Amino acid sequence: MMRAELRVDLARLRQNVRAVRERMAPADVLVVIKDNAYAQGVEPVVSAALDAGATWFGGIDLDSAVRAKREAGERARVFCWMTLSAEEAQQGIDEGLELGVGDADYLEHVAAADGTANVHLKIDTGLHRNGVRPEQWAAFCARAAEHERGGRIRVAGIWTHIAEASDEEDDASRAEFDRAVEIARSAGLDPEVRHLAASAAAWHRTEFRYDLVRIGAFCYGIRSEDGPEIAGVAPASSLVAPVVAVGDDVEVAIGSVDGYASALAGRVSVATPAGVRALTRVDPFTSRVEPWPGAAVGDEVILFGPGENGEPTPTDLGEAIGTVGEEPLLRVSPLVTRTYIG
Ligand SMILES: *Cc1c(COP(=O)(O)O)cnc(C)c1O
Repeated sequence: MMRAELRVDLARLRQNVRAVRERMAPADVLVVIKDNAYAQGVEPVVSAALDAGATWFGGIDLDSAVRAKREAGERARVFCWMTLSAEEAQQGIDEGLELGVGDADYLEHVAAADGTANVHLKIDTGLHRNGVRPEQWAAFCARAAEHERGGRIRVAGIWTHIAEASDEEDDASRAEFDRAVEIARSAGLDPEVRHLAASAAAWHRTEFRYDLVRIGAFCYGIRSEDGPEIAGVAPASSLVAPVVAVGDDVEVAIGSVDGYASALAGRVSVATPAGVRALTRVDPFTSRVEPWPGAAVGDEVILFGPGENGEPTPTDLGEAIGTVGEEPLLRVSPLVTRTYIG
């Protein structure tokens, strides 16, 4: 049974991480590995990124963060920003993770856990997703300082997340962030790392880098939708499917159950051994592509990738159906085999 595969090029990934690290220096880079390293597999991604010099990893979910820490050991620090319960906090501490803390109640859970938690305090600078509101920040920092003096926590970082939707909004968030850092210092805290920027702001705006930047998309070579190409960085993964039948059109082994969006039919072209051909249909288990002379069962068709054979990038696919470039990657079903090259 011939199956589609997600082929992850680890050499490309290392190259991306190196390019990102060079660009961001002297700020350090936290490689974001949330959602199973954007569906590419935490362990091989972490291992490759370590080889490229990465010293920080981070993610939202405990599972990805724990796996990253187990893979990296003492070679890297791992920040998990959304543990939610006392149980998760304890597990995070036991695993050696650093924890995001964005509300006063959760600070108490983390302080009450066994062991000294390394925490990063989050100020809400306008995104309203999670984080302590500016009007509560001073009291929150005072309480954190008390816990730090008691040896229950160590405040390793101050952070926030910004919208990256407009420069004006981001500038306002940054001003709020600076005030928050000042307040934290007046409360007696001495955070090693301040971090607020993700891929786009960190890449294009030097003043947003501070000590650490949290980079997901660009490490994997995913450019922003409607954004420019990013020099030195290209998609690390290709979605590849074999031809399973040749008739009036060519049938390939990728379908909507594999996480390949049916809305792509008629909207994109894919790479075949004879060049680019239109994708005409996406059914549950297979898809159809315009025929080419000499098409044969077993030929490989590239649905997305770095673009070297004319295939669309994940962001091209996202743009074709009105979503972000991460989505075509994140949707690839866990049942699609991951293979690693490079
Ligand atoms: C996903 C995420 C990032 C990475 O964003 P990119 O734009 O992909 O670089 C950074 N910070 C937080 C809090 C995130 O959830």
